[in-house]
Amino acid sequence: MKITIHSVNNSANEELCESYDEFALFDGVVHSSDNAPEGDPHHKLVLKHKAVREIFDFIEWDRGERPDSRDEQGGILLGKRYYDAKKEIHFAVVSKAITADDAVGSSGYLDITQECWRDMHKKKDDYNEATGEDAVIVGWFHTHPNSLSCFMSGTDRNTQDLFFDGDNTYSIVFNPQRHLLKAFRARECYATQAFLITTPTKAEVELDGQD
Ligand SMILES: [Zn+2]
Repeated sequence: MKITIHSVNNSANEELCESYDEFALFDGVVHSSDNAPEGDPHHKLVLKHKAVREIFDFIEWDRGERPDSRDEQGGILLGKRYYDAKKEIHFAVVSKAITADDAVGSSGYLDITQECWRDMHKKKDDYNEATGEDAVIVGWFHTHPNSLSCFMSGTDRNTQDLFFDGDNTYSIVFNPQRHLLKAFRARECYATQAFLITTPTKAEVELDGQD
């Protein structure tokens, strides 16, 4: 579970004021993080369906348990941070996952090289240009494949501390074969309520129908 990150430009955005509207946000089937029950209800992470799909396709979540041993994989989470002053809920909504396609991984090691970071930042800029969204890096994800459980190892905590230390900056650890996922927040790696929308939204279905 050793992760080496050589550089990251993790610019934080201001939290925008918006009400935490579960009905609007949870447009589809929701898969919660395994450690959601321990999470602080004042901080929530929501992954839109497209971002979930990008992660699931990359880590082969839907292929289920396979006898082969997989390598560790990872990437970054793009989105926006919000604050609902009335409910006192800080939340981040992830609209895009950028996968570290060229990272060098083994079953217990992931090296996100400088080149790989450059590539991810370029993809982030391209995404923002195409969508006009102005999304920022709100966190990262990586896998603990095979028989590993999901937790923040010493090295993971070090990565979080060095590059993702914001109060509303997140980390998700997936085990793709065993369908485990846990989310963590801030430098301290607090257990976090994360909600992954695993089915397409109505608007996405209609768009696909037009192809
Ligand atoms: Zn790890």
